[in-house]
Amino acid sequence: MTHLKILFAACALVFAPSAFAQDWSIAIHGGAGTLSRDDMTAEKEAAYRAALQEALDAGAAILAEGGSAMDAIQAAIVLMEDNPLFNAGRGAVYTWEGENELDASIMDGRDRGAGAVTGVTTIKNPILLADKVRTDSPHVFLMGQGAEQFAEEQGIEKVDPSWFATEHRREALERMKARELSALDVDLKFGTVGAVALDSQGNLAAGTSTGGMTGKRWGRIGDAPVIGAGTYADNRSCAVSATGWGEYFIRVGVAQEICTRLRIAAEREEQELLSTLRRFIGRQKVDASAVRAERAQTTADDVMAEVKELGGDGGIILVTPDGDALYSFNTSGMYRGRTTSSGINEVAIFGESE
Ligand code: ASP
Repeated sequence: MTHLKILFAACALVFAPSAFAQDWSIAIHGGAGTLSRDDMTAEKEAAYRAALQEALDAGAAILAEGGSAMDAIQAAIVLMEDNPLFNAGRGAVYTWEGENELDASIMDGRDRGAGAVTGVTTIKNPILLADKVRTDSPHVFLMGQGAEQFAEEQGIEKVDPSWFATEHRREALERMKARELSALDVDLKFGTVGAVALDSQGNLAAGTSTGGMTGKRWGRIGDAPVIGAGTYADNRSCAVSATGWGEYFIRVGVAQEICTRLRIAAEREEQELLSTLRRFIGRQKVDASAVRAERAQTTADDVMAEVKELGGDGGIILVTPDGDALYSFNTSGMYRGRTTSSGINEVAIFGESE
């Protein structure tokens, strides 16, 4: 074998997806926050678990049939938007003025195409409108009345604002006002929804949808519709969807920060491996995908630690180009789930002790 052939063979070994790499994977969240078994009835826990599993199954079914990551995340998010258990679509939290104002964003890892909407009040599934912004408008981010008008022109399903109203969220606003509590005191879990996926074509996608935070005022916008803060996808690094105290996630630029760190690390690794191979030192099998999975978890944990350091809390879900689906949260719990083509299929609510 010529030196060149040896180099190519070694590169193939190192960079090819290992036998453990996934064909496809999906992770979802339904919000993070202070969640303890003691505060939750068995019925409530079962309802959340069933809702998470239903959303996960809808996304996984699309991926298993060879469908796209973009379609899979939307299928999962629409189900959670329609479910009043979550703070997105129906079941959204209330603004200080007693309205439901919805935010959503979506990103395609193939070309970093993105769409986002904020402050909409009549769009049944804001994630679908965000995607329309991506595919059928020259813009990335639309707000309020303009977004509603665009939705009308595009034939996106609208509903009366009362569709989003739920008693438990109104009661949370009233408690907040009566006792002058903060959004966190009144509703110690968040409830935003999100999904990230890798499809069998190797494409990543991320999406997030929310009602924001209870009692938000003055046209407040959180991280969920902000590309780079609550949502990011780039085939070169990862797909991330976040949930938590949005102000901190915007300040840290959480989703993009994680992806950028992973992209730079991957590029550096590629250079280092190539130079090692050129010197014929690295002939032993390197399970590069295991190293990358570990790095993805550490990077996500590091960025979430930064959020915590500033005083914010919440969590993220992440999928890598190798198909690793993981979570990181600095709260006691996060409604979450993941399914991969290698056979992982789980939903979880509380911390690591589960
Ligand atoms: N991140 C959302 C916001 O700040 C809230 C949440 O995740 O529940 O609007």
